[in-house]
Amino acid sequence: VTPYTPGEQPQRRDIIKLNTNENPYPPAPGVLALLKNMDGNLFRKYPDPDATVLVSAIAEFYGVDKNQIFCGVGSDDVLGMSFLTFFNGSKPVLFPDITYSFYDVWAGLFGIPFETPALDSGFHIRKEDYFRENGGIVIANPNAPTGVAMPLSDIREIAEKNRESVIIIDEAYVDFGGETALPLVSEFKNLLVVRTFSKSRSMAGMRIGFAIGDENLISALKRVKYSYNSYTLNMPSILLGAESVKDRKYFEETVGKIVKTRERVKHELREMGFVFGDSMTNFLFVKKPGTDAGKLFRALKDAGIYVRYFDKPVLRDYLRITIGTDEEMNRLLDFFRHAFSGGV
Ligand code: PMP
Repeated sequence: VTPYTPGEQPQRRDIIKLNTNENPYPPAPGVLALLKNMDGNLFRKYPDPDATVLVSAIAEFYGVDKNQIFCGVGSDDVLGMSFLTFFNGSKPVLFPDITYSFYDVWAGLFGIPFETPALDSGFHIRKEDYFRENGGIVIANPNAPTGVAMPLSDIREIAEKNRESVIIIDEAYVDFGGETALPLVSEFKNLLVVRTFSKSRSMAGMRIGFAIGDENLISALKRVKYSYNSYTLNMPSILLGAESVKDRKYFEETVGKIVKTRERVKHELREMGFVFGDSMTNFLFVKKPGTDAGKLFRALKDAGIYVRYFDKPVLRDYLRITIGTDEEMNRLLDFFRHAFSGGV
């Protein structure tokens, strides 16, 4: 198996970091206050393996039952555990050819056969490609690294045509503008929605992810977890995650700021001649015809601006740029203006 390559986490602090889709704003004030007053003596004990306070807070936020929620160490843990739990037949699991590049790594690691239907030329997922026999389906919605979202009606059609396999909808970025599949969970007992605290909740470093689905799916995930590692989430993550969920107002404000910055940057990049799909996430996947994206990536890095570059077919013409603060994005835009006027 070729392992997944995570985005760089440079030790330097004096850079503009737009390479791993982190949130530029701090976690909710209640999270910071709780962290400051946390009694380290608590750490003598093992954490609650059921992460009860976190599960309860999430259940309340989304109006679902506690036994419909499974928490893990980031959504990577939840997704990996889901591949291990649900994908074990001989039929291929289906996910798009351009999507989160961890899916094929898990499939390889667990020996799961898979096929990868191609996106259309506008980077849309073609629902018809998923109307056939399969051992499971995984769709990131909005998709990564393209940022393009699929309408809920398409997800519904895919669910209607696939009652016999587990469908995972990875909604890592949905809070920034996509349509969630959560309303489908009670109707489709085989549909699992996976979420993360890493993007919209500014807590990538705490490693918190969760899944919402029918209680049978959740109990299957728990059985696998308790056959592997019962203490996954650590105590601070459980407590601080629960605190974050309590503050809906801060969450909505932060997401709103990022969406506003994203729309402004979209406009400015278009004016400069960049082309891209209509991102509904906290990143843009952009190309400037006639410009070598690899060169631009390295020039940006030399200037202390880190973005993500995938040196793979199709993707190598693009840069994936996380939406930072307005100030950070202005620095990026200034860099581009200077570069395209012959400065680099
Ligand atoms: N799904 C997608 C589509 C992602 O881009 C990421 C971030 N790399 C993840 C899942 C995993 O995020 P985390 O483990 O931080 O929750």
